[in-house]
Amino acid sequence: MEKILNYINGELVEPVGGSFLDNIEPATGKVYGKIPDSDEKDVENALLAAKSAFEGWAKTSMKERSEILLKISRLIDQNLKSLAEEESRDNGKPIKLAEMVDIPRASSNFHFFATALLHDSSQSHFMEHVPAINYTLRRPIGVVGCISPWNLPLYLFTWKIAPALASGNCVVAKPSEITPFSAFRLSEICIEAGLPKGVLNIVHGLGPKVGSAIVSHSGVKAISFTGGTKTGEAIAREAAPKFKKLSLELGGKNPNIVFADCDFEEALSTTMLSSFSNQGQICLCGPRVFIQKPIYERFRDAMVEKAAKLKIGDPNSQDTRIGALVSEPHMNKVLSYIKLAKEEGGKILAGGNRVNLEGRCEGGYFVEPTIIEGLDHACRTNQEEIFGPVVSLIPFENEEDVIAMANSTEYGLAASIWTQDLSRAHRVGERIQSGIVWINCWLLRDLRTPFGGMKNSGVGREGGFEAMKFFTEQKNICIKY
Ligand code: NDP
Repeated sequence: MEKILNYINGELVEPVGGSFLDNIEPATGKVYGKIPDSDEKDVENALLAAKSAFEGWAKTSMKERSEILLKISRLIDQNLKSLAEEESRDNGKPIKLAEMVDIPRASSNFHFFATALLHDSSQSHFMEHVPAINYTLRRPIGVVGCISPWNLPLYLFTWKIAPALASGNCVVAKPSEITPFSAFRLSEICIEAGLPKGVLNIVHGLGPKVGSAIVSHSGVKAISFTGGTKTGEAIAREAAPKFKKLSLELGGKNPNIVFADCDFEEALSTTMLSSFSNQGQICLCGPRVFIQKPIYERFRDAMVEKAAKLKIGDPNSQDTRIGALVSEPHMNKVLSYIKLAKEEGGKILAGGNRVNLEGRCEGGYFVEPTIIEGLDHACRTNQEEIFGPVVSLIPFENEEDVIAMANSTEYGLAASIWTQDLSRAHRVGERIQSGIVWINCWLLRDLRTPFGGMKNSGVGREGGFEAMKFFTEQKNICIKY
């Protein structure tokens, strides 16, 4: 039984209350480890450690900070194989995906912000009619909270922690208790890298206990949160009266728009990825596939044919493309949406069922890649976030038609547009209500660009200097001379 521990004040420690939760492997449905069931006492200890580490960390030279963060990045690279295995076991994702996406991107998060901090700058404003100049200082905030979800565990955890540390803050962080293992391994890596004690503290446990204790603590001055829209709402309610800085990366129901003049094969193969990668459990997946009428049947049939060939299997196996969903409750939620789709008049063209594998993965949470057609764009299946391997195909006539349908949800995180017409690409890209628009690609990320959603998909932007700005307090100094 693998038992993980909290990382507080530079040490790996048991929770004060001494109780642990089960960690379940989604591919088998069996308990394989224990997770601290921490509470507000552990958060308090983490806060005290972070507070006393802050002055020292904020004063380290940029070079020193950069070198420690680079060392963390290198250690993630050196441990890529074992981290990928552990991430796959904890989350159910195919090991190949963890090797190619999750772990390399976690390393590049540290690498990027380790070097970004060396190139950070602030502004100055010269006044024209008065002999005066303003310059703006940006200083670390102090102790900040980072809370992340289960779908891309180490990738999203480090996406927050790296800029927070690079900007000179100390951090109290909580990964999802559903997938805590790679965060535990990160704490070991931080110890090996020589990160001063208390600079990063990782408290494991349940959202309503540990997460909520971090959000409500008066010593935490800013919260960076990624997760569901409902949780984001609860966090905003808690944090608002205390005037905390908030960055919220929330849910999505992204449109994937395929025009008849697209590069068919490219649009098709990438649509398969944006539909089913990580079992559809990526906030940037495109579960609403709008296909222009002249190519609707051809595109639909090709998708259905490809879906049948996707290998569902043990996430451990290198040729598995569809692993397990993250938990039994989540699998049941996804299956309930497939049932709802049928009730709403949808026709299941591919998949639609739980998969019972034999052998090691007998009790795992596997669901077939599922393709549905015939649903109105306004029905619940097409409006609510399912977050599983389920896509709905919707034919459309023209630009006006598809823009109205694409913008009809409460969400506005990301969109993909497939067309060879450059003017149309710009026109539609500009009118789609989402924080991120990909044209003729998907999941192509440049870490310098702003990342985040509009509408109920979030508040604020992460990425690049946006993240460094979020994690610093600005102060303008005006000098008359
Ligand atoms: P949740 O909102 O359930 O949980 C996210 C994190 O918040 C977890 O660590 C969770 O802990 C914690 N938490 C839960 N309740 C509270 C609370 N009251 N106070 C503080 N923290 C709390 O999301 P999921 O983990 O289910 O992740 C899936 C969601 O994340 C989807 O909606 C998806 O769209 C979204 N997401 C958004 C992304 C974006 O960039 N916009 C990227 C990736 C995912 P615990 O696990 O213990 O409940």
